[in-house]
Amino acid sequence: MKSVKIENVSKQFGQVHGVKDLNLTIKAGEFFTFLGPSGCGKTTTLRMIAGFYYPTEGKILFDDRDVTLLQPNKRNIGMVFQNYALFPHMTVDENIAFGLQVRKLSKAEIQQKVDRIRGLVHLEQYGRRKINELSGGQQQRVALARALVIEPDILLLDEPLSNLDAKLREETRIEIKRIQTDLGVTTIYVTHDQMEAMSMSDRIMVMDNGDVKQIGTPQEIYNRPLNRFVADFIGETNLIEATVEDINGDDIQAKTVNGLIFTGRKQHSSPALTHMIGDKVFISIRPESVNLGPGENELIGKISFVEFTGISVNYIVDFKEFALKVMIINTNGQLKQIGEDITLHIAHDSLYFLGE
Ligand code: ATP
Repeated sequence: MKSVKIENVSKQFGQVHGVKDLNLTIKAGEFFTFLGPSGCGKTTTLRMIAGFYYPTEGKILFDDRDVTLLQPNKRNIGMVFQNYALFPHMTVDENIAFGLQVRKLSKAEIQQKVDRIRGLVHLEQYGRRKINELSGGQQQRVALARALVIEPDILLLDEPLSNLDAKLREETRIEIKRIQTDLGVTTIYVTHDQMEAMSMSDRIMVMDNGDVKQIGTPQEIYNRPLNRFVADFIGETNLIEATVEDINGDDIQAKTVNGLIFTGRKQHSSPALTHMIGDKVFISIRPESVNLGPGENELIGKISFVEFTGISVNYIVDFKEFALKVMIINTNGQLKQIGEDITLHIAHDSLYFLGE
C-alpha cells in the first residue's frame, strides 16, 4: 500500500475546468472517497491518478515516486468501474486471471492467487461460470477480484455500485469495506451517493464544480460542515437566512427577516465564520434535531406535509418566511395531520451557523 499525493493539479478540457488546483494527500491504507454531484470533477481526478488522463498542471506522487506522466499499466493500480468491464464470454477464473497472465506468472502461481481471491470475494463455487451467467452483484465481485488479484498498491473504484439495486448495493458496500479492511489496501472511491461515502470512508473529499468544498472524516463533514454546500449535500438540512443580532459569551443570537430570534452556541459554527454583529449567516438545522413541543428556540407552524416511513414521521412545517423539514423518530404512535398547528423546539446546541 502506498500514499497518494496530489500537488497543485489542474485539468483543463479546452475552456472547461475539470479540476482546479487540487492539493491532497491520501494516506497509505486509507479508504478515501471523492464525493460530489455529477460533473464536479471526481472521475477526472481518479483518471489522473490511474494515468488515463495527464494533468494540465501539477504533480501526482505514489509515496515519493512521481507518476504524473507514467502509463497506467506501470502504476500497479487495480481499478473497478461502474459497468464492470469484464469479458462476458470468459469464465470467472479467466477474468480474474487476466492481469496475472499479462504479467507472465506461472500457471500454478496464477491458480493459487485466483483461488485465494475468489474466496475473499465469496465466489468459491463460481470459478467455471461464465460472466453472463452471473447476477450483477456477482459480476461486480468478479471485477473487484480481478482488480485485487494483482496485489495493487492502490485500488481505484469508480461508482462501482451504481448498477446494482438498493439491497445488493448495501450488501456489496459492506463486502467492499470488509475486504478493504482485511487487505489494508489504499482505496480511492468515487461516488455521488453520500450514504455510501459516509458509511465506508475514513475520509471524504466533497467536490463541486472542480473545487474542493471540504476534506474530513464522515463525522467532521456531517457535524462541522465548512459551508452551505457541504451542509446541504451531506444528509438533509434546513438552511435559514439570518443576521447576527447579539453575541453574549458563548451564545449567539441571530434574527430572521421577519424577526424570529434563534439562539445557538458560538462554537457550533463553521470555522470559516468570524462572528460580528450585523453579519449575514445561515442557520443549519438538521430535520432530526427538531423536537415536538415547547422548549428552546420554540416555534409554532402549520403542517403542510406528513410522511410515515416506519423509522420516523417526517413533516414539512410552514412558517411565514421558511418551511422546516422535521424528522421525529420517537412518535409514540402519534401522527399529526396536514393543516394542524404544531409546536416545535430546537435545542441551542443543535443549531449550526454557516457563512455564505
Ligand atoms: P459524473 O458523476 O457525472 O461522472 P464527475 O464528478 O465524475 O461527474 P467529471 O467526469 O470529472 O465529473 O467531469 C468534470 C468536468 O469536466 C465536467 O464539466 C465535464 O463535462 C468535463 N469533462 C470531463 N471529461 C471531459 C472530456 N474528456 N472532455 C471534455 N470535458 C470533459
